[in-house]
Amino acid sequence: MDVAVIGAGPVGLMLAAELRLGGAGVVVLDRRAAPDERPRANGLGGRIVEQLDHRGLLDRFRAEAAFAGPFPGFPFGPVPLDFRGLDSPMRGLMLQQPRMEALLAARATELGAEIRRGHELLDLGTVRGPDGPYRLEARYLVGCDGAHSRARELAGIGFPGTTDDELMRLGHFRGDLALFTTMPGVERGWNRRPGGRVLVTSLTPGVVIAGVREVAPEPPGEPTLGEFRDAVRRVLGTDLPLEEPLWLSRTVSSARLAEHYRAGRVFLAGDAAHLFPAGGSSLNVGLLDAVNLGWKLAAVVRGASPESLLDSYHAERHPVAARTLTQTRVQALLDRLTGEDGDALRTLFGELAALPQATRHLAGLLRDSDELPYVPDLPLTVGGRATRVAEVMRAARPVLFDFADRADLREAAGPDVKIVTAGCPDAPADALFVRPDGVVVFSGDDPAALREAMTAPGR
Ligand SMILES: Cc1cc2nc3c(=O)[nH]c(=O)nc-3n(C[C@H](O)[C@H](O)[C@H](O)COP(=O)(O)OP(=O)(O)OC[C@H]3O[C@@H](n4cnc5c(N)ncnc54)[C@H](O)[C@@H]3O)c2cc1C
Repeated sequence: MDVAVIGAGPVGLMLAAELRLGGAGVVVLDRRAAPDERPRANGLGGRIVEQLDHRGLLDRFRAEAAFAGPFPGFPFGPVPLDFRGLDSPMRGLMLQQPRMEALLAARATELGAEIRRGHELLDLGTVRGPDGPYRLEARYLVGCDGAHSRARELAGIGFPGTTDDELMRLGHFRGDLALFTTMPGVERGWNRRPGGRVLVTSLTPGVVIAGVREVAPEPPGEPTLGEFRDAVRRVLGTDLPLEEPLWLSRTVSSARLAEHYRAGRVFLAGDAAHLFPAGGSSLNVGLLDAVNLGWKLAAVVRGASPESLLDSYHAERHPVAARTLTQTRVQALLDRLTGEDGDALRTLFGELAALPQATRHLAGLLRDSDELPYVPDLPLTVGGRATRVAEVMRAARPVLFDFADRADLREAAGPDVKIVTAGCPDAPADALFVRPDGVVVFSGDDPAALREAMTAPGR
């Protein structure tokens, strides 16, 4: 087997599809016997949405999404940001994580990935399946096995950072939100009290989402309704009409970043590589790890690129997670600071964040925190047919866009490159050379410079 992906969460499934598109053989192993149906992330935003478009997946996601389009705003922790004045909107979609995983699993399977559920990685060469342990032979192994990654541990990769002392209880309950928000002193959203915060909101009629954050040790066992109600009473000073839980969870947030994304033949992606202490970014960053790594592993497996290409995965994605860690730590701090000091910090930060340049900066961080140049979705004419860059990228191949019918540039692009001679009124240069993950490696008109770009590390 070329690549074993450990974990059939969203990141492992996305990676499996990318590897298959690139021509690598892949098996995905997950210790869970069935997909995880717990609600977790509610949506995606920023560059991953453009990337889904590049893979022809956006229509499938949009068809099931409660919302798809430019986000009019986004919460930066407790501070609402207004994106309506931005020159480049942040695209987003609202879809529950189990549905995203089902769509990604269908895609990976369609492309020929084998998904084995009920198979647990024990050590780097052994898996325990339903019929007992067996040897795992794979040239590369990618740990997409979440926060407590066994692959990370086995590869000896450190995971420094901090773990919060606040416990977050979250639940979905059958009920009417109006029963909660008409109670005296209870508002939709987070309700701050000296001992913590209580959330009441709803995304679906008839289902109330409630949460409680307080400094407390994590009790043993599964979360219970009684424990949830006690925590609400402690923090809010009163009871909420919480009945019929559909789902209860308890989490402690962490801020951690793997020291290396690669140790020999083992790579990390998604939560196995980074944990962010505020919501809204984890899945976007994790899925983009998969898009960055997938084509590189596939190109090396096919023999089209040297092994050294694989080092660019850490070089490119580790700084993105480091920047995301910084901005999510700030979100968590803004959220957490209590009393008059906290109120003052949130007020002033909110005023600063409303300045156009600051809003643009924060939107850029939320979009992906990535400084690589990505190809814009230019309108094109190819062979008399109107198309877009995103449609050309569907095959996940390196592409030379030749906008000036330049045989010398086409020749300089070399083998293993899809050449697209296209009309483009907004062409930024005679030619663009774009990696399968949408990164522009060359923009210009000089064949010698193109040849040089083709041999650069990370090409
Ligand atoms: C309550 C909650 C709310 C959240 N809200 C948001 C949000 O709003 N926005 C956001 O972006 N993110 C959110 N997240 C985080 C998001 O769910 C994660 O970032 C995402 O699931 C990470 O995907 P992953 O594929 O990296 O890992 P996971 O989804 O954790 O998948 C890892 C998989 O690996 C498998 N596995 C583990 N160990 C082994 C082993 N030894 N052998 C085989 N398989 C193994 C597991 O069974 C699991 O299926 C939330 C998380 C929680 C818990």
